[in-house]
Amino acid sequence: MITSSELKKKYLNYFEKRGHAVIPSASLIPQNDPTVLFTTAGMQPLVPYLIGEKHPAGNRLTDVQKCVRTGDIDDVGDDWHLTFFEMLGNWSLGDYFKKEAIEMSFEFLTKELNIPMKQLAVSCFVGDDNAPKDDESAKIWQSLGVAAERIAFLGQADNWWGPAGQTGPCGPDTEIFYWSGQTEPPKKFDPQDKHWVEIWNNVFMQYNKTENGRYEELNQKNVDTGMGLERTTAILNGDDNVFTTDNFIPIVSGINNLAGNGKNEKKSIRIIADHIRAATFILAEGIEPSNLDRGYVLRRLIRRAIRHGKIIKINSPFVFKIAEIIIQRMATEYPELESNKNFIIEQLVKEEEKFEKTLEDGLKEFENIIKINGKGKNPKTEITGHQAFILFSTYGFPLEIIKELAAEKGLKIDETEFNKEFKNHQELSRTATAGRFKGGLADQTEETKKLHTAAHLLLAALRKILGDHVYQKGSNITAERLRFDFSHVEKLTTEQKEKIEAMVNEQITKNITVKCEEMTLDEAKKRGAMGIFGDKYGQTVKVYSINNFSCEICGGPHAENTGQLGKFKLIKEESSSSGVRRIKATLS
Ligand code: ATP
Ligand code: MG
Repeated sequence: MITSSELKKKYLNYFEKRGHAVIPSASLIPQNDPTVLFTTAGMQPLVPYLIGEKHPAGNRLTDVQKCVRTGDIDDVGDDWHLTFFEMLGNWSLGDYFKKEAIEMSFEFLTKELNIPMKQLAVSCFVGDDNAPKDDESAKIWQSLGVAAERIAFLGQADNWWGPAGQTGPCGPDTEIFYWSGQTEPPKKFDPQDKHWVEIWNNVFMQYNKTENGRYEELNQKNVDTGMGLERTTAILNGDDNVFTTDNFIPIVSGINNLAGNGKNEKKSIRIIADHIRAATFILAEGIEPSNLDRGYVLRRLIRRAIRHGKIIKINSPFVFKIAEIIIQRMATEYPELESNKNFIIEQLVKEEEKFEKTLEDGLKEFENIIKINGKGKNPKTEITGHQAFILFSTYGFPLEIIKELAAEKGLKIDETEFNKEFKNHQELSRTATAGRFKGGLADQTEETKKLHTAAHLLLAALRKILGDHVYQKGSNITAERLRFDFSHVEKLTTEQKEKIEAMVNEQITKNITVKCEEMTLDEAKKRGAMGIFGDKYGQTVKVYSINNFSCEICGGPHAENTGQLGKFKLIKEESSSSGVRRIKATLS
């Protein structure tokens, strides 16, 4: 039996011995990237260094990073996916490349962890119009004794990373899989066979995607790797899922102790264990449940856990009890759990009380809907968007709970209609708010819209002039001026400031229509839109583009045409905080 903290120690020691500096886990809230709600991988906090900034600890790094992937929420309940997990990683910033990286991965798995080679398989990039097949990696694996039939070549979706925006570093990756089946591992690696579990990914940042879409070899080539702590702990112990690993044992047994006659609802138990763990860690960052962004992710996790608590017949309130177990178990490695314990427990109790008030009635309403829909000559096979919206707005059911309830009855939801109702509702509450502040706010709107559009032009200009490391870190708009914070270390030179101003004004004089389109997050990402990624909820997003100059995911509203903006002027440039500059600008 190896525990997860023993595995962490082994990993960090192994890489420390090989010249890597051990760095601490960064926050779950991204500090240099407003395009994602949560840190989803070890590489994320390291992006500035992967694109060229010098890391104070050197060019070989290793760490354990706490991660949240809300995009995986629907997979939770299977054997291997969690919304909160820990990722082990090692990085080379322009130091070693494929050969050393693969050799170290291989040695760590087969020598340090003693995994028999016959249990392992790998995948490499197959090649496409942009970049050639990654034979180099495959040859290195073979030189270490991995059989050719255990190497699969896959396309961009599986074995390619980046760039993070429209341009920048990107490259092939090679993923390592473990045979988790009870039978002898098959000779040939079939990536479709679910018994092959991905445990580790090595990304090779080899190319730079340029503005004209070309892929050029990078001067500074980086390695970025990520190994799932829970998955690897599980396979080392011969477990066939992550919920039997040491950190989950007390959580799962705590849930079982509270459960009534629902103990064999394995999926519900797993969802409760994962979601409360994720919620506990998010709360430890000071986030509160709300209806917006991170707060709403948190609310959904807690409410879904409560709903599954009902399925396994737990008496409420229970969420804080499970959180206490998690805090006790994990606070040695994550002291923020202990120092924020009161806040975490308080918030969980409050949220559970709130949802308890409407949950029972909402479930009754749901049964009612089913009854009504089933009546008559043509019973409905769908829950209408309006019905779903009532459950959402009156009873506080997040959409995934409604979908799940419907699926349990073999029914679907009319999501298009739901989204329409949702939008109408938003419009209504916006108008109501605007009405309340009549005069002041109404007069301001045109001005703030224009400044908002200017902010998009400014971000695009900053990235073009200063580089792709520039991300928006915050903005604040009043009727008079725009304040804009962005990631950049040095003070801007007079020449840079003039160029930025000129570039924004050039776009204004071109009289460009500001285009707004709705699309899925994936499509937005493919277009290279700046904005919030990493969360597949709220599936369609608005993308505002200004010719090829600027493209951002954004709620709007914006000016219709850049010509309306007038003259853009930078009035101040100063430091905001470490690594962040602030610009104030006006339109006249
Ligand atoms: P999968 O295809 O299995 O979802 P992935 O391709 O999304 O994995 P990466 O983004 O390469 O995974 O992440 C690196 C490692 O982190 C994976 O090899 C895996 O061990 C771990 N990992 C990824 N997602 C999860 C998750 N949802 N829960 C637990 N571990 C995960
Ligand atoms: Mg995944």
